[in-house]
Amino acid sequence: MRSLAQAITGLELPAVEKISEEQAEEPFQILIATILSARTQDATTHAASTRLFRRARTSRTLAALPVKEIERLIYPVSFYRNKARHVKACCRMLLDRFGGRVPSTMQELVMLPGVGRKTANLVMILAFKSLHNICVDTHVHRISNRLGWVKTKLPDETEQALYKATNSRWWPYINLYLVTWGQNVCRPIGPRCGDCVIADVCPRIGVPRRSAT
Ligand code: SF4
Repeated sequence: MRSLAQAITGLELPAVEKISEEQAEEPFQILIATILSARTQDATTHAASTRLFRRARTSRTLAALPVKEIERLIYPVSFYRNKARHVKACCRMLLDRFGGRVPSTMQELVMLPGVGRKTANLVMILAFKSLHNICVDTHVHRISNRLGWVKTKLPDETEQALYKATNSRWWPYINLYLVTWGQNVCRPIGPRCGDCVIADVCPRIGVPRRSAT
């Protein structure tokens, strides 16, 4: 993890991390940007979030927008129609149940429409500075398995296995380090093992022989 911390310096940050920095860790915008980011390229998420927040920056103003307008603002994020409905419903629930504020517990966060464990964990880490959460997306799931830290089939299993397999001091950083590494070096197809700073400690589990050189 120390090697990765050094190696990612200067690399492009994941979109939600960038938004978190730009918005001074404002929980509402981190939550909405994370919902938009699922299965969407970082640049698309960043542009869509910027357009949306220019139009509405709070749960109250966003809940008041018609779904069609939210769709138009967030297009072309993937599943933009579903996400527009979720964003509006999520804002409605924030207003109705949480006084318009983003709740700060996992239990409450996963009650929100469009929010699963991945989103909730990232909000806990970025918005509430939690030291007790690991956010697992496809990059974290893939790389943890390649490194042999875990042996799992699904991201939710990976999250639980990582709590056991890793030192808790690294939990808040695992997502940032592995997502950045996954986007730049340990890519899903054709990982650049020859350029990898942790190649000497990586058994490259499941990596085709040709990529692993
Ligand atoms: S050595 Fe290859 S498989 Fe292992 S972390 Fe680096 S890029 Fe990924």
